[in-house]
This record gives sequence, C-alpha cells and structure tokens, in this order.
Amino acid sequence: MKFQKPKGTMDILPQEAEKWQFVENKAREIFKLYHFGELRTPIFENFEVIVRSIGENTDIVSKEMYDFYDKGNRHITLRPEGTAALVRSYVENKLFGPEHPQPFKAFYIGPMFRYERPQAGRLRQFHQIGVEVIGSQSPITDVETIVMGLDFFKELGITHLKLVINSLGNKKSRSNYREVLVDYLSKVEDQLSQDSKRRLYTNPLRVLDSKAEEDAKIIENAPSILDYLDDESRTFFEEVKRLLDSLAVPYEVDSRMVRGLDYYNDTVFEIMSDAPGFENVLTTICAGGRYDGLISEFDGPLEKDSGFGFALGIERVLIAIEAEGKEIPKTSSLDVYVSCVSKKSEQLAIKVAQYARHSGLKTELETSYRKLKTQLRAANRLGAGFVAFVGDEEETANSVTIKNLATGEETQVPLEELEQYFKEIKEISTR
Ligand code: ATP
Ligand code: MG
Repeated sequence: MKFQKPKGTMDILPQEAEKWQFVENKAREIFKLYHFGELRTPIFENFEVIVRSIGENTDIVSKEMYDFYDKGNRHITLRPEGTAALVRSYVENKLFGPEHPQPFKAFYIGPMFRYERPQAGRLRQFHQIGVEVIGSQSPITDVETIVMGLDFFKELGITHLKLVINSLGNKKSRSNYREVLVDYLSKVEDQLSQDSKRRLYTNPLRVLDSKAEEDAKIIENAPSILDYLDDESRTFFEEVKRLLDSLAVPYEVDSRMVRGLDYYNDTVFEIMSDAPGFENVLTTICAGGRYDGLISEFDGPLEKDSGFGFALGIERVLIAIEAEGKEIPKTSSLDVYVSCVSKKSEQLAIKVAQYARHSGLKTELETSYRKLKTQLRAANRLGAGFVAFVGDEEETANSVTIKNLATGEETQVPLEELEQYFKEIKEISTR
C-alpha cells in the first residue's frame, strides 16, 4: 500500500466511532450534572505553556513532546495533555472574573500527542477526557471531582473499580520528603535501574513510579511520604478521607503513588480497573489530583491559585468496557431502506427518503438500481426495519409499498399520507 497513517496513530472507523460517541456522550451527561461546562482549546500551544506547567524533567517534556518551529519561527508543540492549556486559557480569558461561575469548572474532550514508542493501548495520538476545577481550596472539591469520575465509569457499566488515593502534601512537606527520599535512594544508587538513576537527581519522586524490576524492592522499603506531611497537609488529607467515608466510597491509600507531572500537591488519585478481562493486572483508567500553584505560575490571581482535575484516556476506557465483558449498545441499525429499481423512479425515491428522514427515521436510499432481490438482501444486512418500494407501479398509483421486515406485512401508503405514516413508525419505535 502506498499511503499509510503516521506511526502510532489510528483511524477510528464508523462502527468503532459509535463506541467513542457513547463514551463521550456519557461524559457530557454526567459532567453536566456536576455543573461543568466544556472548554475547547487549540490542539497546539506555545512550547513554553507546556514546559512551564508540566516541568522540564518529566518524561513528557524531556522525551515525548511533538514540537516544531512553525513558519514564523515560533516554538510550537502539539498538546501532550489538557491541564496546561486549560489553565493558560483560564488566565488569558480572565475566567476568574465574577461574571463566570466560581469555582471555575470545565471539561475537555480531544486528541493529545506524545512521541512514545507505540504499543498496545499506547499511541502517539490518543484521546483524553479531562476535567478541571479552578479556584477552590476545599477538600470537598477533591472528593466531588473524584466521585464524578466514579459515576462516569459506573454509567459506562464499569463496575470492577478501585479508587487509590495518596497525598503529596504541600510544597514544604514535599521538599522535606524529597530530601529524605534522595538520601535513601542515593545509598542504593548502584542498584537502581538506568531510568531511576537519572530521575534520582532530576525528579526523585518519579522513581517511586518505576515499573523496573530491580527497583521494586527499593521502592517497597522507601520512606513513606505520608510520614512527612506537616499539620496542614495531614489535616487536608484527613478531610478528604472523611468525606469519602461519609459517601461510603471505598478507597485504598497507596503512599507510593505519585503522579508523573510536577504540578501536583496534596491529593492525588487513580481509578483502576480489575475487570476480568485484565486478568489480574490492575489497570489505571483515570488519574488526577490537586495542583495548587499552577495558576500563579501562569500569572493568574493568587487568591484563585488552586486547582483539581483528572484525565482519562478514551482508548483505555474502551478496553476497560471490553474487559468488563460489556457491550456498548448499537445504534447503527437502519429504520428504512428505500428501494428503487430504475432511474425513472429516482425523483420519487429521493422524495420518499426525505420524508422518512424528516420524520426522524434513519434511512438509506438505493443508488445503483440493483436487482430487487439484491436490494432486499442489503436491507436485511443493514438491519432495516422497513423497506419502501418505489417503482413504476408505485409511481403510477402515486403511492408507496412499505414492507415491515419483521412481520412481512406490506402496506400501500398514498404519497400524501406517507409523512404521517413514517411519523407513526417513529413514534412506535421510540416507545
Ligand atoms: P503512563 O504511566 O501509562 O504512561 P501517564 O502517567 O503518562 O500514564 P497521564 O499523563 O496521567 O498518563 O494521562 C492520563 C491517561 O491518559 C492515562 O491513564 C492513559 O489512559 C492515557 N494515556 C496517556 N498516555 C497515553 C498514550 N500514549 N496512549 C494512549 N493513552 C494514553
Ligand atoms: Mg506516560
């Protein structure tokens, strides 16, 4: 084949796209109940926007950016995630103003780009659904947002869920812990994996995230960040847990869970799936946390300098639905197939098809005048409920024969009653 899609990308074909719409619609539905609006930002940003927020020493910025210089010599990058862009937009558009509901709550749905080694479920263009709440320091926000994520997954039929939370504490707690951790890790530096050696001095918390076998034991015995939280951070974390308890939401605390991005503080969380299809491998399907300090990093107002959000990969959610053994309801089957056997009847045929569509029926129109038998077979294959026959006889009689494929029953419908007839079909089908 001559032309191929770029490495690490995917064409989402119509049948597959239906599943995507299902997931996206559910997100819109649930987020609306929590009073989130949609914010659409460009898919590319100035390089600085991403570096400033995610941090230079993260995998994303150091290895995975899809950046380039445009014709005006501007350093541009395709966005690798959504939070940076959303915060940039929040500040640039002064969404902290009193004319906007506060705290500011928005979600996004769209493609993200990371230059990664493509493998199953890991792409260079992938898609995220994400939400952000800006301007609330309350632990209620953390909990509300987490349970909104849980609601979304439940609505998708994903029930094998595990919520894991941790606290990274405030800046002071984290920098104390960082010192202790570096101290601990540097003593065993020679036993660490190559990646972890590098991270030890650039982004030591990230070592705890390592999946390398040689790091496992070292990570297990590492000091716990929870022992280094100061009073303020500990109280905050306690409140988050208490609110989750009050809603009877089960969770687990994992003091080794850190997130890859630099901007997180206090609450971080992951929603994992242990669906049967994952065969005992816990798979993260949603991740997020609190990011106080990012808003002022973008020169936003200090009194609004707190955020909380999460992101989830749509590709992985679809895999999780499959791992649950759940089918996404199909909506593709056809209501009406308009059959037409000669060019002579095409004007009537297209009119009949339009009547059907304007009555809300999903309608396909024969365009190549195949043999009647072939057309019927096509209608059956497409799952049509009805076939409308338009031919010489029908034209002279100024009526159309409608066949109900389920019952085999045929009805002659005069043209002037056709629209009404279709509307009745529609009504019955939606009942
Ligand atoms: P990982 O540890 O798997 O690399 P991450 O920490 O880089 O994940 P985040 O930046 O938190 O992931 O993104 C949130 C979600 O986006 C992930 O849980 C995953 O579902 C999805 N995701 C991230 N990178 C990719 C990718 N390259 N291809 C497909 N989905 C991705
Ligand atoms: Mg990654």
